[in-house]
Amino acid sequence: MRLSKAFLKTYKEAPKEAEVISHKLMLRASMIRQLTRGVYSYLPLGYRVLKKIENIVREEMDRAGSQEILMPVLQPASLWEESGRWFAYGSELMRMKDRNEREFALGPTHEEVVTDIVRNTITSYKDLPFSLYQIQTKFRDEMRPRFGLMRGREFLMKDAYSFHLTKESLDEEFLNMKNAYSRILERMELKFRAVDADSGSIGGNASNEFMVLAENGEDDILYSDSSDYAANIEKATSIIELKESTEEKLPKELVETPNTKTIKELSEFLNIPEEKTVKAVMLKEVLEDKVNYVLALIRGDLDVNEIKLKNAINASLELEIMTEEECEKFGIVPGFAGSYEKKEGLTVVIDETVKYVRNFALGANKKDYHFINVNLEDLHYDVVADIRTARAGDISPDGKGVLKIARGMEVGHIFKLGDKYSKALNAKVLDENGKQQVILMGCYGIGVSRLMSAVIEQKNDEYGIIWPKSIAPYIADVIIANVKDETQVNVAEKIYEALKNENIDVVLDDRNERAGFKFKDADLIGFPLKIVAGKGADNGIVEVKDRATGESVEVKVEEVINFVKNFMKN
Ligand code: ATP
Ligand code: MG
Repeated sequence: MRLSKAFLKTYKEAPKEAEVISHKLMLRASMIRQLTRGVYSYLPLGYRVLKKIENIVREEMDRAGSQEILMPVLQPASLWEESGRWFAYGSELMRMKDRNEREFALGPTHEEVVTDIVRNTITSYKDLPFSLYQIQTKFRDEMRPRFGLMRGREFLMKDAYSFHLTKESLDEEFLNMKNAYSRILERMELKFRAVDADSGSIGGNASNEFMVLAENGEDDILYSDSSDYAANIEKATSIIELKESTEEKLPKELVETPNTKTIKELSEFLNIPEEKTVKAVMLKEVLEDKVNYVLALIRGDLDVNEIKLKNAINASLELEIMTEEECEKFGIVPGFAGSYEKKEGLTVVIDETVKYVRNFALGANKKDYHFINVNLEDLHYDVVADIRTARAGDISPDGKGVLKIARGMEVGHIFKLGDKYSKALNAKVLDENGKQQVILMGCYGIGVSRLMSAVIEQKNDEYGIIWPKSIAPYIADVIIANVKDETQVNVAEKIYEALKNENIDVVLDDRNERAGFKFKDADLIGFPLKIVAGKGADNGIVEVKDRATGESVEVKVEEVINFVKNFMKN
């Protein structure tokens, strides 16, 4: 490509709305353009990168034995009703009606569609196992679309689905996919970790997230400093020292505690450590036909992990905060909440830590009042569980080392779904004994467009993007330092043509601009190599500069091709 003819306009500054570095650089380097919130066009350079990422994903999926298909974006509501997700998926599902008022969704994921294909195609255990995948645009009406391609409402995903007769076969494929994902990320030179994760609205019983380590990531990962334990904070467990107190139990006592709605205010007012308070959190699960209410109690210095709480009460949907009116119905006063007697329709979960605190302070369900000297016997509760958010500094759950925290960006998520969708959609095969068996499934997603952001988050400097060779839009930028200099033009043109003939992705910067301007653009866009035809051209020499290392060498014109070929091999 000749940059004089390219659809390319670079910018010194990024627009204010771009908050993270990858978004800024993609806009400045003319890779993407926003149409509306969370919806982007890919411009020529950006689209080349996207296609290269897509190809790496495709190659590794093919190599792992998955077969590529393409499913419709447009999906009938009836199928989503069968799986129960027409309601459960909530407002993230983009819904629409056709001219006959029939309801549809724009696919955010394809478990329903692929299960429908499979149930109508195979009948015997002999057809299992197999794996199907697609690379396709997904739609999710995200609450907070942001950070450019990181969280879009329309984005490109690779989603794969595998089908099995036995658990062992599913386990094997899960591992196979885990390896394929590692290869994909390694080929893009990313620093990542596979971590234990919660299965979220996709469901199922085991899942791993692939986290790219990045300051601007939206997730927190806890990992052990001396074992390979790593988990999303949503899922992480830890060991904290819990000792039975020898303190003598005192009778509970009502005390006035004006304006002490937070644990900090309460502990200061009563002059007791936060560890000697217990806090209450009121949440609910809103189902199609009913609402489940839950009150959770936890030691005051700790936090409730909503995902663990959700799992502790076997809720299937994300929990929401109870309104004041709802609290009132149960006689709960927010800010001064406690649990002393059974309330019909309210499940009370206590974190295991509460069992170990003696003579603690807890809301009295009366405005501006707490009880002090509360003990376990004074409480009403239904369930004891670990609902605590693990913290950096806690002991790793395997007992090895201390947990540390890192920011991560989820780029892939693999699940053992089990029979969640196949059961709901009645996808069965006949087994060896002629008996009907529900098929077991796995599903495996990777954010193709989000990966573009992830790479830039990890690979940039003050001058711009530093693309790894595997996905750079072009490997080399041949720059004519001075377009008025005939020798420089001839040398550059010759190298450009020769590289093209070798099928090496190359651009020629033949724009009538100052050399400095061209260098800046090259660094901003992040071509791995700059090949500069400048003063040395008279002696048949060009300067070749490596974007990643900053190293620069003089190379004879005849040797440039081999130099670039070698560069690509290493
Ligand atoms: P998140 O927690 O970030 O919302 P998710 O758990 O909803 O992700 P999955 O349903 O597992 O994501 O989707 C598979 C992959 O698709 C994710 O790992 C991520 O890389 C990508 N992805 C999900 N949502 C988006 C989005 N809004 N924009 C871009 N990529 C996305
Ligand atoms: Mg999501």
